[in-house]
Amino acid sequence: FQPKKQTMERARGPTSLARFWGAQMVELPTLPYAASALNRVLSAQTMRLHHGRHHAKYVAAVNQMTARTEVQDSPLEEIISWARDHRAGGLLANAGQAWNHGFLWNSMTPHSGEPDGALAVAIGRSFGSVSALRDAFLKAGAAHFGSGWVWRATDGVRLEVCTTHDAGTLATGAELPLLVCDLWEHAYYLDHLNDRSGYLTGWWDMIANWDFAEAQFRAALGGGLRWTYADGPYPQPLGTRQDFEGAIAHVNKALVDPPEPDSV
Ligand code: FE
Repeated sequence: FQPKKQTMERARGPTSLARFWGAQMVELPTLPYAASALNRVLSAQTMRLHHGRHHAKYVAAVNQMTARTEVQDSPLEEIISWARDHRAGGLLANAGQAWNHGFLWNSMTPHSGEPDGALAVAIGRSFGSVSALRDAFLKAGAAHFGSGWVWRATDGVRLEVCTTHDAGTLATGAELPLLVCDLWEHAYYLDHLNDRSGYLTGWWDMIANWDFAEAQFRAALGGGLRWTYADGPYPQPLGTRQDFEGAIAHVNKALVDPPEPDSV
């Protein structure tokens, strides 16, 4: 009786065993902040849809496509390399999108600030000034045709601004990403309609996460490890005493209650 046999084989297959033994599948990370934390530029509604629907869909697709393959329990970076080597276009697109969104959540923060330290020196060397880098970012993001991503990246010496189309990713390879901004319309359309330049300007001026960019840049110089997808949320800076007290209250609450859906 063929259907029953297939069911039994599937039930005994590597995927169910991997799940039984708690092997890692690719997960949807929590946001590093409340969904409303970036509302000067991106509303809570946008963030919830973007994270809970779009990113979640890419993660589910990766897990479905890698089930019963040799990379089903591999880190997302290895899945991306494997998909590229095996010309698995659908998997590569979904895995690239999953990785880029994980990196995106850490590229944003309610406590933006300014580039500092070695990163600020490198920006001066490569662009002349932070203002010139800002101009390059806004120009590249606004000029990019269709969906994609605009990155600040480094080869370990110089910094650059570049864009990738659709699901193109800097997850693997020699160039190390510092920050990324999502150019897909799902990232901003509810809040900014077709005003991509207004979205990019707000993004740069109010929510770019320079702490995260500096940590990535230090990794490029050999001081620490670059972010990987499994690392999930990068710790957010605490901008004020109120933030600090809120964080302590949050930890205390988490010790007795389950975390809220939109928070760390
Ligand atoms: Fe997106």
